[in-house]
Amino acid sequence: MSARAILAVALLAAGFGQAWGTEAQFERPAYAGAYEPQGVDERGLWMELDDHERGFRDSPLVVQDEELTRYIKGVLCKTVGQDRCAATRIYVVQDNIFNATMAPNGLMVINTGLLARVHSEAELATILGHEFAHFELRHSLNKFKKRRTGSDILMWLSLSGAAVGQNVGAVAESAFVTGLAGFNREQEQQSDLLSADYIRASSYPLRASVVWKRLMEEDDALREERKQRKIRRFTPGATDTHPTNLQRFAYFSEIEAQPGAIDGDDGAAAYRDATARVLPTLFGSLVKGNEFAAADYVIQSRAQALGWDGLLLHARGELYRLRGNPRDLVTARQFYEQAIATGSAPAEAWRGAGLTAMRGGDSAAGKAALQEYLVRSPQAADAAAMKMLLEN
Ligand SMILES: [Zn+2]
Repeated sequence: MSARAILAVALLAAGFGQAWGTEAQFERPAYAGAYEPQGVDERGLWMELDDHERGFRDSPLVVQDEELTRYIKGVLCKTVGQDRCAATRIYVVQDNIFNATMAPNGLMVINTGLLARVHSEAELATILGHEFAHFELRHSLNKFKKRRTGSDILMWLSLSGAAVGQNVGAVAESAFVTGLAGFNREQEQQSDLLSADYIRASSYPLRASVVWKRLMEEDDALREERKQRKIRRFTPGATDTHPTNLQRFAYFSEIEAQPGAIDGDDGAAAYRDATARVLPTLFGSLVKGNEFAAADYVIQSRAQALGWDGLLLHARGELYRLRGNPRDLVTARQFYEQAIATGSAPAEAWRGAGLTAMRGGDSAAGKAALQEYLVRSPQAADAAAMKMLLEN
């Protein structure tokens, strides 16, 4: 079946077939309210999920930043409407993978790696809408009923999100996944299309294809670094749980080509402002991961869309310094110095500038920068080590 035919079938199956920009503005269907568990099995499942959520809420992986969480919830509410979003609790977790998940009790999890890779509220809305669509269409319920032990629930959660193919490699090899894959792919596409419908009823323009395009470019960068052949598949493999990035790019591009679909404020400036404060949190695990080319692609693509600032330049300096080739240290020092010149650098930029200057044999400049770091961050965990460096 062609992509267009698959799209048409999926649209009909989901009960949504209205074209964008027709006379009547798309209205969200009346919301039935959050689903209440039916019967003993489902109630048991909900209790397990509630238990899981209670433990999860205080997990060190969860980013405890109310302002950020409230902001994301606000984007979700604008996307799906107040009545629908009231049924959800959002948690941001420290994880460099591009992923988000939603459980049938309304628990929504967003990875920092996803927030680092989207550049506007409208882009974020396509992912939040997708997760909410799984929830509203109750996709997870049957699978949960069959597989409701704790580890299976966690496994399922990790698969049910918007994950990109290359990052679920280890998980995707298990037989468990093969069984779920086909089932999931259809539902993933259905959720993508319902997400587009939510957005059509919202004030956001549809900005979905570009997200999948960048994920393909990131994958290309990673493969090039590993000297692997670049792969852009249109047909999913047997164990793929999601449509391929190229498929998603293609069907979203078609919807975006409809009149009126991409009109409106995408909230890029608001997104930049809301996330600028937390860039170290959003980029931290990416920078410390071992996928240099992918992380550098993500940093540069944010800069291209939203501009460089002190925190982003610092993140790029850290990325190069941690890879640590002699030439990387020279490059890293330049990024730290550029970060400092913006006036919005974190104290750690002086630390990085100092360490890379000293490694490069410029010990006077290095010591001056480290001294400045200690002035700016006297309580730093590594203050004692830095003082030792200064005494040598
Ligand atoms: Zn999904």
